[in-house]
Amino acid sequence: MERVRHLQIYHMPAKLVNLIVGHPATAAGLLIVGGLSLQVCLLVLGGIFRLFAERKRASLEGLRLELEIKRAERQIRSAAETSSAWNGYRKFSVAKKVAETGDTFSFYLKPHDGKPLPAFKPGQYLTFQLNVPGEGKPIVRCYSLSDCARPSHYRVTVKRCPPPEKSGHPPGAGSSYFCDHVKEGDILDVKAPNGHFYLDLEQERPLVLISGGVGVTPMIAMANALAETGSARETWFFHGTRNSGDHLFKSHMASLAAENKNVRMHVCHSKPLAGDVSGRDYQHEGRVTVELLKQLLPSSNYEYFLCGPGPFMESITEDLRSWGVSDQHVHFEAFGPASVKRAASPEAKVGVTFAPFGGLEVTFAKSGQKAVWQGEGRSLLELAEEARVKIDAGCRAGNCGSCLVAIKSGKVAYIGKHGADAEEGSCLACICRPVTALVLDA
Ligand SMILES: Cc1cc2nc3c(=O)[nH]c(=O)nc-3n(C[C@H](O)[C@H](O)[C@H](O)COP(=O)(O)OP(=O)(O)OC[C@H]3O[C@@H](n4cnc5c(N)ncnc54)[C@H](O)[C@@H]3O)c2cc1C
Repeated sequence: MERVRHLQIYHMPAKLVNLIVGHPATAAGLLIVGGLSLQVCLLVLGGIFRLFAERKRASLEGLRLELEIKRAERQIRSAAETSSAWNGYRKFSVAKKVAETGDTFSFYLKPHDGKPLPAFKPGQYLTFQLNVPGEGKPIVRCYSLSDCARPSHYRVTVKRCPPPEKSGHPPGAGSSYFCDHVKEGDILDVKAPNGHFYLDLEQERPLVLISGGVGVTPMIAMANALAETGSARETWFFHGTRNSGDHLFKSHMASLAAENKNVRMHVCHSKPLAGDVSGRDYQHEGRVTVELLKQLLPSSNYEYFLCGPGPFMESITEDLRSWGVSDQHVHFEAFGPASVKRAASPEAKVGVTFAPFGGLEVTFAKSGQKAVWQGEGRSLLELAEEARVKIDAGCRAGNCGSCLVAIKSGKVAYIGKHGADAEEGSCLACICRPVTALVLDA
């Protein structure tokens, strides 16, 4: 009785208490069956958990392997890039010429020697030496690679450079030659891909690509490279153009956005055509501005890549700086003379010994001209042009080597990074400034 009361204290149902007390053997049997069932249940559950954990581990392992394979592929590509790059000019034949818009053409180039093509970094460019009739000597021009690396060919996209309004000058020599004369089957002299403006595919930091007009070419190479490598990197692509008549790679950009969830495409039309439809042909009326970026981006914390006309880049870089974006996160390419001013770096001020008259005298010995460099951001090439001294120029970014000039006396400093070699006693005038009074062999 005492035991019954004890069990009831623990609120066991009366029937169960009676069963245990009245039929101990049955109760024991039930207990054993219950215990066994519990064990079976635990075993089954344990198995299911193990199976899930196993699957998760396998899928994580799969992901890790995939990443390893991609990294290995990139390493192989970059090894191939270095091993099959070439020095000087190599012959390429024009395999295909495609009209992108009325005044812009894409050229698909294959190596004439049939040997492998080095890969390149998306954003880099090719340097061409063109024999333009009437120019007297070959001219050197750079054009960005407008697609990511493909094993069979390179692609560049050239827009005819119109003369400045009411200037009476002829249109651009190199771009007109490409658009009007270069045809399929022609052979061109091309330097290996080069340039410091490129997207590092190993990085994961979210991106903002901003282009204006034909400045879209390196951005297409970058966006294509991201899509080809299956990157999930958050990417905002802002492109400014007048209207759909000028919109380069319009359908390709729409496919990029439709097929890659991580790519958010925003096209701005400054002068939409009557038939252009908002939401279909463009997302915003007006220009690409930092105001627009502020409305759309969750923060300013991105890596920015810019390419477009000078004033467009100047205003965007300036406004990004005001928004608190540091210069180290803003990368840009100028298709002409670089006009974007970086915040003055401490090194830029070091070592300049100004003459008593407040500037540094630069003497162009061959042409018998003199000019004074006042410490502003201009290069020696720009100074020479203002003094009407002819120095050849191609990329204006220190890569093509066209503006190499011998220094007869004095010292120079480099304003930016350069790809071309400048032997001792010479300098690349497009990215140099004087440090002392100078005498140049120009
Ligand atoms: C790294 C890099 C990448 C580039 N990528 C591309 C690209 O992908 N696509 C592209 O289309 N371009 C690109 N460019 C620009 C390209 O290299 C050329 O600068 C552009 O095509 C103009 O060259 P041009 O020979 O046609 O013009 P130029 O002959 O150099 O003439 C330039 C301008 O000067 C005017 N001009 C002519 N004669 C005179 C005169 N006597 N006085 C004053 N002005 C005159 C012309 O009308 C023209 O407006 C890139 C440039 C660089 C540096």
